[in-house]
Amino acid sequence: MKTTRSISRRTAFKSVGALGACLALSPFAAKAKAAVGQPPSRPPRPGDSRKQIADRVFNTPMSDTHEHLVDEKERLAGTVTPGIPCDDWALLLSHYVNSDLIVAGMPKADVEQFLSPKVDPAAKWDLIAPYWPAVRNTGYAQAIRIAVSELYGVDDLSAATVAKVQAGYDKVRRPGFYQRILQGLGGIESCQVNCLSGEGFKESSMPTLLMQDINLMGMINVPSLRAYARQYGSRSGIEASTLANWHAVIDWYFARYAQYAVAVKSQQAYSRDLDYVRAPAERAEPVFQKALQKESLTAEERKLLEDHLFWYCVDKATAHQLPVKLHTGYYAGQNSMPLERLSHNPGSAADLCRLSPDTRFVFMHIGYPHYEAMLALAKQYANAHVDMCWSWIINPLAAKDYFKKHIVTAHANKLFPFGGDYMPVEPVLGHATMVRRGIAQALSELVDEGWMSLPDALELVDPILRGNARRVFNLPQKLQALKTAPWIK
Ligand SMILES: [Zn+2]
Repeated sequence: MKTTRSISRRTAFKSVGALGACLALSPFAAKAKAAVGQPPSRPPRPGDSRKQIADRVFNTPMSDTHEHLVDEKERLAGTVTPGIPCDDWALLLSHYVNSDLIVAGMPKADVEQFLSPKVDPAAKWDLIAPYWPAVRNTGYAQAIRIAVSELYGVDDLSAATVAKVQAGYDKVRRPGFYQRILQGLGGIESCQVNCLSGEGFKESSMPTLLMQDINLMGMINVPSLRAYARQYGSRSGIEASTLANWHAVIDWYFARYAQYAVAVKSQQAYSRDLDYVRAPAERAEPVFQKALQKESLTAEERKLLEDHLFWYCVDKATAHQLPVKLHTGYYAGQNSMPLERLSHNPGSAADLCRLSPDTRFVFMHIGYPHYEAMLALAKQYANAHVDMCWSWIINPLAAKDYFKKHIVTAHANKLFPFGGDYMPVEPVLGHATMVRRGIAQALSELVDEGWMSLPDALELVDPILRGNARRVFNLPQKLQALKTAPWIK
C-alpha cells in the first residue's frame, strides 16, 4: 500500500475541510504522479511513457457503468433505508469487506455488532482488529483504505485513527456529498445504478448523476414472482392474473421508462446458469398460474417459466434499444457460491449472443474467475460487451491482466472499464482510484513490453474510459431525457 500512502500525502489537501475547494481543481488529476510512484518534485522527462499515460488516465473523466447506490436523500435518512445497516464509519465496510472479515474467521455475531447502529462507533475498531491484518491487503479492503485516505486524510484504519475516521465520516456525509465525491473527487461523469429496492425502475431524485437500469429480477425471477405480480400490478394498474396480463405489466414498464433507462439488468446468475432457451407462452402459462397460486414447481417448470420471461424482456429491451446487462461469475457474500456453475456462464452467454444477434449484451464482472473464456466470447461475438465492474476489487491483478489481454485480443470499443458496484458512495472513490492506477499500469506495460506504441496507448484512454459507455448506452440522449424527467418536481 505504499502507493496509497503516497497518494494520501499528495492529496492531503483533500481532507474534509477542503472538500468543496477541490471541486474547481480537477483534483483526481493530482493522483497521476503518485500512481507511477514518482516523487512529486520530479519534472516529467520527455519520453517517460509511464508518466504520460498516468497523466492521461488520471485527467480523463470516467463513466461508471454499474453501482447499487441508494439515492442521496435516502442515504441521509440513515438506517431506515434498506442497505444502510448503520450510519457511521463501519458502513464503508458493510459492502464486501464484511465478507472478507467473515471468511477470515470473524464470528457473524461480531460482524452484526460491528454493523449495528446501536454500538458506539469508537468501540467498533476492537471488533475487527483481530481480523484486519488478514484482510487489509485484499482489493475489497484496499478500496476502503484509499477512500478513507482521500476523504478523511487518514492513512489506514487502526485504534489510533478510528476517531478521526468517524469525524471525517460525519463531516463528509452532508447534502451534496454524492456529487462532490463522484464528480468532484472521482472524476466520474455519471453512474449507472441497479437499484436493489425491488422497484422495476427507480425514479431517482438525481437522475442525471444516478442513471438507472430497468430491473429485470422482479419480472423474471420465479420465487418472487407472486409478490412482484402484486406490486408491479398495482403500480401499473394491470391485474397480473394471467401470463398475457403479466406481459402487459412488463410492457407498461418499458413504455413508461425505456426512454429514461440506460439498460436492463439481471443478476439471476446468482440462482441459475444463463442457459435461457426460448419457450412459448402456451407452455409457460400453466406454470405461471401455479407460481401465482404458490404451488410448488419442479426445477424444470421453474426454468421453463424463467426462460420464457427472460426472452420476453430481452426482446422488449432490444426493441427499445436498451443493452442487456447480465451478472456473470463471482458472487457477493460468503460461504455459498457454487463455483462449478460459474464455469458454464461464458458458454451459455455465447448461446445468448447467437440466439439474439441484435441484442447488445453486457457481461459483467469479466465472469471472474473465467475471464479468458469471457475474452474469447468478446472476440468472437459482435454483440458481446464486457464490463469490468467490481472485478478490480475482487482481484486487482486479474483485472489488470484482463484489461491488457482485451486490448490485444478483443475490441477496444466493447470494453467498459469501471463500475464500483457499491451501495455506499464513499468506497466508489477508492475503487475508481484503483481502476485508474490499474489501467495506467496495464497500458504502460503494453508499451514497455512492445505490444503497442505510446501514441496508440494514449489514444485509447478517452474512448475506453468514457466513449464506449456514452455510445453503447446512448448517454447523451438519455441525459437530455432525464433533465426533464416527469418525476422531478
Ligand atoms: Zn452489482
